Amino acid sequence: MENLLSEETKMFQQILHKFCEKIIRPVAGEIDEKEEYPAEIFGRLAEMGVGGIIIPEEYGGSSLGWVGACIAMEELARLSAAVAIAVGATSFHYAYPILVAGSEEQKETYLTGAVYGEKTGTMAMTEANSGANVAAIQTTAEDKGDHLVLNGSKMFVINADNSDYMLVVAKAKSEAQAGESLLMVIDPKSPGVTIKKVPKMGMSSVSTCDVEFSDVKVPKEALIASGPECLKLIADSVDRFRLVFGAIALGIMQGAFEEASTYSQDRVAFGKPICTFQAVGFYLADMYKMITVSRNMIYHTALKADQGLDFSLDAQVAKLYASESCMWVADRALQIHGGYGFSVEYPISRYFREARLMEIGEGTSEVLKETILTKLGLPTK
Ligand SMILES: Cc1cc2nc3c(=O)[nH]c(=O)nc-3n(C[C@H](O)[C@H](O)[C@H](O)COP(=O)(O)OP(=O)(O)OC[C@H]3O[C@@H](n4cnc5c(N)ncnc54)[C@H](O)[C@@H]3O)c2cc1C
Repeated sequence: MENLLSEETKMFQQILHKFCEKIIRPVAGEIDEKEEYPAEIFGRLAEMGVGGIIIPEEYGGSSLGWVGACIAMEELARLSAAVAIAVGATSFHYAYPILVAGSEEQKETYLTGAVYGEKTGTMAMTEANSGANVAAIQTTAEDKGDHLVLNGSKMFVINADNSDYMLVVAKAKSEAQAGESLLMVIDPKSPGVTIKKVPKMGMSSVSTCDVEFSDVKVPKEALIASGPECLKLIADSVDRFRLVFGAIALGIMQGAFEEASTYSQDRVAFGKPICTFQAVGFYLADMYKMITVSRNMIYHTALKADQGLDFSLDAQVAKLYASESCMWVADRALQIHGGYGFSVEYPISRYFREARLMEIGEGTSEVLKETILTKLGLPTK
């Protein structure tokens, strides 16, 4: 894998790896247990260029593309998937659509702070009645001349309570455009926005929130995309987010594998290290197999994305395979820990909880399978 990376990307990986070991490893369990948002860590990651990985140099980014994005997600998730997911919310979910569809002025206004780590962003798409089915969203934006008025609600928005900006997907209410998709940036502290944290079983150091919009005034200058272009942009963005989500699953697997491998060499049962029992050794070999296949698929797909090739089908397959493998790897890694795995004494229980989100977020496994069948031209109805 290293041979495929540019010198710049290799250097980025090495620096990030060292940072994660030194700064994230010692606190990963504690921030999860205390549900503590690690603002200081995000500031330091931004100094290393994590905020601008996919952003071209002309806008202050490091231009490391989707390979760089996957490297960052894998390295961070290897020690804390919560940190990875929070970084991804700003660096990809928020930044990518603005980078592609924003005007020069919008990029200046909404991207610069995010690139330098001064501002955080997130994307609000899911609603109570439209999770997997994005087309069914009901949040509306009414055209009032120089501004839009936003009404509706979103669910599960990552880091909404800590974000300076929120990218919102809505439907046009006005007669001329009725039902067209709109993508706009809002300030989550605007009058009419209510944010409520939703307790969850893992990834606890980063919040997930329900957000309500009640007559929220959005200046027209904050409208990033509309109409068919907006739908195309969302579809393209979702492919890319699925890819980086796969890289988070890969990082969790790698971390869980390392925990299980170390534990199995230290733990003695029946007078010998448990890794020498073939059943345990085979689990480790299968884990390594799944990690290797996932890694190859993810970076192959990321390379295609960076080269401007069609990577959509590969992204669905890579995310599906990596997330399902992640759950199996985390489960077997916990099994290798025996009773200690079920206790919270070892990090493996956290990996297990983090792994569970991988088959749900950014397209459930079931929805990904439907998408794969559709892309293969096979009938699904
Ligand atoms: C921790 C966390 C963070 C999140 N962050 C964000 C965020 O920042 N922004 C955001 O917009 N969203 C976010 N989400 C939402 C996430 O993307 C959705 O939860 C996900 O898309 C699934 O939607 P849903 O929960 O409504 O499930 P549903 O769509 O209701 O699905 C329920 C079940 O039905 C199955 N199902 C649904 N449709 C089909 C179908 N056509 N064929 C087969 N099976 C089907 C699903 O696979 C699933 O098993 C987050 C969710 C979580 C848990």
